[in-house]
Amino acid sequence: MEYLSGKELSNQIKEKVKEEVASLTRKPHMVVLVNPNDESSLGYVRMQEKAAVQLGIRFSLITMKDSEEEYIAKIKELNEDKDVDAIMVTRPLFKGADESLIINEINPSKDVDALNPLSLGELFICKEGYIAPATAQAIIELIKAYKIEVKGKEVLVVGRSISVGKPVSMMLLEMNGTVTIAHSRSLDLPTLLSRADIVIAAVGKPHLLDASACKEGAIVIDAGIHYLEGGIVGDVKPNDKLRAISKVPGGVGTITTACLMMNVLKCYRRNN
Ligand code: NAP
Repeated sequence: MEYLSGKELSNQIKEKVKEEVASLTRKPHMVVLVNPNDESSLGYVRMQEKAAVQLGIRFSLITMKDSEEEYIAKIKELNEDKDVDAIMVTRPLFKGADESLIINEINPSKDVDALNPLSLGELFICKEGYIAPATAQAIIELIKAYKIEVKGKEVLVVGRSISVGKPVSMMLLEMNGTVTIAHSRSLDLPTLLSRADIVIAAVGKPHLLDASACKEGAIVIDAGIHYLEGGIVGDVKPNDKLRAISKVPGGVGTITTACLMMNVLKCYRRNN
């Protein structure tokens, strides 16, 4: 069984972004609104900041209070600010927050993680130059880099969130895969797993899927990342019957940050 690494690909994407940023007089500016009470968001944001600084992208972090009004007012201000190219709101938001109310406020041309309805609609119709949520894009970049044939293949996506499962399903459909989407109410996941040539795991639960139920020679792309006492694991428990599985850590997560930086540039180009 081969482990698919995202490191080299991530470096290649970052290198391209760095070169383009170096050629710009006004450097792209990304602003992140963070919920300070969510530890995993803080970790994710620190990784983004490190990458942005390395690539010459200006990065501002705003720590938010638990108030929908404050989020909306801040987003409105950033939408108007010509020196801000990309806006991101970390999730989960505070308890009781209306997530779509807040996310939908982001100007679509600055929506760097592509979560508002217009961005998702553009992805749905594969509009030229659309921006995809970074994790979904990272999964596709990994598939392309390893030249994994999707056309005509049975592809099972487990998870249907708007940030990973749904967008990646649409992108795989566009690549001519025969896509099945499973979720928490799906019956008989083992049978679905046994049929799939390619499995995309985006469930957010450590080792929820056991690859021993997969078809012999299947390929698994695991978007999950869980910090457990015994180490870092993904959503899938690997098994030797697979042809390949993406590394955790060092797979999808590594590429996600690079894709987010690529999205900052796409937003910059839209606004200049
Ligand atoms: P999410 O919003 O919590 O969605 C999880 C999805 O999994 C839901 O659609 C849920 O189904 C489904 N699910 C939960 N339990 C299930 C079960 N027992 N059987 C089948 N499906 C089940 O999570 P997300 O934001 O999409 O994230 C998914 C994964 O990607 C997580 O592991 C997260 O850590 C990872 N992630 C990674 C990165 C990265 O950079 N690598 C970035 C973001 C997220 P229902 O819709 O029915 O509830």
